[in-house]
Amino acid sequence: MQIIIPEGSGFCPGVIAAEKKLLKIRKENKGPIYISGMFIHNKEYEKYLNGFNIKKTENPFDLPEDSIFVIATHGIDRNIEANLEKRLKVFDLTCPKVKQIQKLIAQNSDKTCIIIGKEGHPETTGLKSYASSYILISSQENLYEPTILEKIKENRKIALFSQTTSSLALFNDSKNFFLKLKKDGKIEEVKIFNTICTSVQYREQKAIEVSRNCDVSIVLGDYLSSNSKRLYDNLKQKNDEVYFIEKPDDLSKIINNIKDKNKVMLVSSASTPSFIEDSVKNMLIKLGSSG
Ligand code: SF4
Repeated sequence: MQIIIPEGSGFCPGVIAAEKKLLKIRKENKGPIYISGMFIHNKEYEKYLNGFNIKKTENPFDLPEDSIFVIATHGIDRNIEANLEKRLKVFDLTCPKVKQIQKLIAQNSDKTCIIIGKEGHPETTGLKSYASSYILISSQENLYEPTILEKIKENRKIALFSQTTSSLALFNDSKNFFLKLKKDGKIEEVKIFNTICTSVQYREQKAIEVSRNCDVSIVLGDYLSSNSKRLYDNLKQKNDEVYFIEKPDDLSKIINNIKDKNKVMLVSSASTPSFIEDSVKNMLIKLGSSG
């Protein structure tokens, strides 16, 4: 069995840089370090960080004064950040790409900001806080809800943005939808910002290319991670034999589907640490040599 890992698999540049900074903060400070939710969407990595006394908190306002609080790569609500800075030691590890979207949204606060993203995702929660008026589009169906036209009537200027890990198809459909409204005279101005992260797109493109020459593909990532799910969905559209697993133990669930294959592609999402990928790869090598 040949195991092929495409270029770009694993942590993205934003997470690599944030992890480096986080471990530096750990080295230079004593006591627990609290993170705004999950540092990355990966439960196994969360356990790993717990070993360094780095843990997530859902209630940063309950933390004792002067606690160390780290903003994860997704960013947080700007009002919460400003309040927390008054009593905690805050380290901002928001990915520069997310920061850039926050900045663009703030610069376009005279418009209704349309954000293509997942409801409740920490990144979109943060992005919304930079807009004076916003509409969140999470699916095709959202585009045809009457509330959209109602809200647009209040301000006929719009700016379109995307969560970094959103689907390009939904972004393009939304773009065409709003450009049509402009053409029909229902909107005065449309500004389009494609803010989907290129490193996510690059990984997907490479994975799709490699999967064409493989018998089966395995996507490795947390089931709750947007970029993992999107990677799986996009590969599944091109190929029938794609499996989505979270951790090495999950391999046992799909073993019968892969054990007789010659070429297996293993690709990790942007939020999958290399120690998980290495472990799955070693299990596959073992499986291949025992066949
Ligand atoms: S996926 Fe892109 S935006 Fe998100 S942390 Fe990585 S580099 Fe930054």
